[in-house]
Amino acid sequence: MFVVLVPATRSLATKERVRYHDVIHRQGSGMSVEQQWDYSFDVVVVGSGNGGLTAALCSFEMGTPDILVVEKSHLYGGTSAISGGGVWIPCNRYARAAGARDSITAAKTYLRQLITPEEVPEYQLDAYLENGPKMVEFLHRHTRVRYVSLAHYPDYYTNLDGAMAGHRSMEPETFTADELGEEWRHLRRTHPMMHLAGVIGITQQEAALLIGQQPGWWKIALKLVAAYVVDIPWRLRDRYHRRLATGCAGVARLRASMMDRDIPLWRNTALTRVVEEQGRVVGVEVKRNGRPLRIQARKAVVLAAGGFEHNQAMREQYLPQPTDHRWSAGTLDNTGDAILEGMRLGAKMHRLNEAWWCNTISVPGEEIPRLSIMEKSYPGSIVVNPAGRRFSNESQNYMAFQQETFRVHSDDNPCNPSWQIFDANFRANYFVGPLYNSKFRPDWLLPKRYQQEGFFVHADTIAELAGKISVDPAGLADTVARMNEYARTGIDPDWHRGEAAYDRYYGDPRVSPNPCLGPIDKSPFYAMRVDPGDFGTQGGMVTPMPRCCTRTGMSSRDCTPSAIAAPRPCPVIPAPGPHWGRR
Ligand SMILES: Cc1cc2nc3c(=O)[nH]c(=O)nc-3n(C[C@H](O)[C@H](O)[C@H](O)COP(=O)(O)OP(=O)(O)OC[C@H]3O[C@@H](n4cnc5c(N)ncnc54)[C@H](O)[C@@H]3O)c2cc1C
Repeated sequence: MFVVLVPATRSLATKERVRYHDVIHRQGSGMSVEQQWDYSFDVVVVGSGNGGLTAALCSFEMGTPDILVVEKSHLYGGTSAISGGGVWIPCNRYARAAGARDSITAAKTYLRQLITPEEVPEYQLDAYLENGPKMVEFLHRHTRVRYVSLAHYPDYYTNLDGAMAGHRSMEPETFTADELGEEWRHLRRTHPMMHLAGVIGITQQEAALLIGQQPGWWKIALKLVAAYVVDIPWRLRDRYHRRLATGCAGVARLRASMMDRDIPLWRNTALTRVVEEQGRVVGVEVKRNGRPLRIQARKAVVLAAGGFEHNQAMREQYLPQPTDHRWSAGTLDNTGDAILEGMRLGAKMHRLNEAWWCNTISVPGEEIPRLSIMEKSYPGSIVVNPAGRRFSNESQNYMAFQQETFRVHSDDNPCNPSWQIFDANFRANYFVGPLYNSKFRPDWLLPKRYQQEGFFVHADTIAELAGKISVDPAGLADTVARMNEYARTGIDPDWHRGEAAYDRYYGDPRVSPNPCLGPIDKSPFYAMRVDPGDFGTQGGMVTPMPRCCTRTGMSSRDCTPSAIAAPRPCPVIPAPGPHWGRR
């Protein structure tokens, strides 16, 4: 049997709009590898997150329009669609338009205090800083991608030279789901924690106002709820609001731009193997709806299949302990498939021991854990280990908090499980994940399983609380007494909470002398379990960025042979994002 590739005509087109090739199988004589393809494209992109979709659009715009995107899941968008969608790119067009006074030099000064040249060489840092704004401009000009500059979202290490108090991060402009036609049905939705009442997507700016109950928050809440309620036509189609926000809006904008160009996206199609011929990547093997297919890639394979956050074996091999894939908020399909293929082909890897660290809370009944960012930071709560001791500044950025956890965690001083401890005042005042606050969701309205499954407990005294969560009662009592004293003086000599501007971003301006420090003294007392989670791993293939081979003397074997791999983090939309800076 041999296979001949025959260019398809428009009349053969299916819903997926065949710009590719149909296959004619014939009985008989010898066949070359080339003849065995089921489909052929110039470029095959693996993964439909921001990395993959942006690569597909850029390929199209730069003159290679014959592209296929394959996605393992029945939904497209990956972790990108679940995410907050924030992108950290200094001097981008939206910041400039908003009048931000920033410079690439200042941004580089900032980053170099956090990242050594051994970790990220000069050419890569320069490439990122120089090309980031150009990439944003390119997408703005050629596609439906639009961002909003975050005027008040500070850099994570505001005390460093070159840091900015805002206008380096952006979030996607909202988008209406119906602009996607029927494709809205297959879009992965933003994480439940970025939904008001579980169904109304909110922007990062709205979330900060609503969750922090900043002045005017209830007017915004009312407006969003009213718009949702009156939209009866859309209600009949979908229980979610038609207005998409955050990462979901970003992915929808990319997907709509792909649809403008007829770029096909196959869901339920998983990469199983990268095909190599005489040292060159020439295509991929996939399983589409369970059926094996071979797809030729005449020019490139783009591997943008996310990290290995849900591959427990890889986590244990590469990441610091303790580690558990159930603590990861990344999409469940990210099991390192493309990274493993890269390893099999001998590609050079880097940063496999790093992830986008963030405390997470595993809420009973929810598939993916929630990030614990704002609630951990508000005054009147602490995070303690089994000894009842704090082990970090709870208000600092989530990445740094988590790195501190790994530094101090040991067999002698375990920091997992850890618990966020707060009191009745805190519970009344602040929104805490699915607990909301006690005015909106009193204790008697919380699902019983929260307590039964050990996620959340309450007690009349600190000693009783400690007993319920198996934390040392003397340690916890001492830690609470200290925090109550720090709340009075406004100074936290242990962990310096509330000293940096970033800490105060999620503080409560109504609380003084320190907006991040409040007493824990009003019964009942509460504990909610928090775990050292992440929202995706960082590491992956070293990729052949423009000029890198000539500048560094890398051989193509050091990079990824004959393929492009979207680096982790991908240099396009999700980029190092607000997370850059790791100490
Ligand atoms: C709740 C949350 C909030 C976040 N907020 C931010 C933020 O504000 N800013 C920021 O910079 N980052 C944020 N992140 C992290 C960020 O979203 C990710 O780092 C980024 O989206 C990764 O993009 P990607 O394209 O590399 O991968 P993904 O978006 O994960 O896409 C990978 C895709 O590949 C698919 N895939 C996997 N294996 C295969 C296979 N074998 N074959 C075919 N397809 C495959 C997956 O199903 C997935 O759809 C957040 C993450 C979470 C969970």
